[in-house]
Amino acid sequence: MTNPFDLTGKVAIVTGANTGIGQAIAVALATAGADVACVGRTPAEDTAAQIRALGRKAEIVSADLSTIEPVQRVVDETIEKLGGLDILINNAGIIRRADAVDFTEADWDAVIDTNLKSVFFLCQAAGRHMIAQGSGRIVNIASMLTFQGGIRVPSYTASKSGIGGLTKLLANEWAAKGINVNAIAPGYIATNNTAALQADAVRNTSILERIPAGAWGEPSDLGGAAVFLSSAAANYVQGHILAVDGGWLAR
Ligand code: NAP
Repeated sequence: MTNPFDLTGKVAIVTGANTGIGQAIAVALATAGADVACVGRTPAEDTAAQIRALGRKAEIVSADLSTIEPVQRVVDETIEKLGGLDILINNAGIIRRADAVDFTEADWDAVIDTNLKSVFFLCQAAGRHMIAQGSGRIVNIASMLTFQGGIRVPSYTASKSGIGGLTKLLANEWAAKGINVNAIAPGYIATNNTAALQADAVRNTSILERIPAGAWGEPSDLGGAAVFLSSAAANYVQGHILAVDGGWLAR
C-alpha cells in the first residue's frame, strides 16, 4: 500500500531554514523523502547537512526576505538546482515588541514586509510555476495571533492575521488548479523568536499555566503537520489553519 505521507521525488522550499521551526520542518520534509532548498539570509549549513545525512538533496539559497527583490530568483534557483518545485513552506518571520502607543513606523514596516508582503509575492512566484504544472502545496506559518490579539506586538498580530486571510484567498483561487494552500499556527514554541518571553519569569509562568499540555512546544513538534499538509494525505484540505499548540486555543 502506498504511504500517503510519502514525499519521495518532491522538491520543497523552506524559508528561514537555518534555525527553529524552519529547520525542523526542512528536516521533517526530508525525512518524508523530499529534497529541500533551504532559503534565508543566514546560510543553513547545519540543516543542509542533516538533510544530506538522510540521503536527500539540500541546496542553500541565499535570500533576504525583508524585501521582495529575491523572490523570483528563489523560485528559479530552486528549480534549476533541484529540478522542480512542489512544496513552498513560508516560515521566515520576525517579531518586534513595544507598547502600541510607542510603536514605530520602522517596526511596523519591517514586520509587515517580511511576514506578509514577501510571503504573498513568494506564493505568487511559486504559484505561477505550480499552476503551470497543475499541482503544488503551499504551507504558510501563521500564529496564535492569527486568531487572537496578543499584546505589545501590533505589526506581528496584523501580519499573522493577514496570513490567515491570505491563505484562504489563495486556496479559493488555486484549489481548482491542483494547488493546496494551508497554514500551520504554532502555539508557544521554544525558539529564538520567543527567547524574550521564555526569559521573562512572569510571562513564562502565565503562558505555561494556560497551555493544557503544560510545556512549551519544540520545533520538531511542527514537523508532522508540515509533512501532512505537503502530502497526498491532505489532497482535500484547502484553506485550513492547523493549530499545533498543546491545546492553547482549546482553553
Ligand atoms: P526564529 O528561530 O527566530 O527563526 C526565524 C527564521 O526566519 C530564521 O531562519 C531567520 O533567519 C528567518 N528570517 C527572519 N528574517 C528574515 C529575512 N529578512 N530574510 C530571510 N530570513 C529571515 O523563529 P521561529 O520561532 O522558528 O519562527 C519561525 C516562524 O514561526 C515565524 O514565522 C514565526 O513568526 C512563527 N511562529 C513562531 C512561534 C514560536 O512560538 N516560536 C509561534 C507562532 C509562529 P536568521 O536566523 O538569519 O535571522
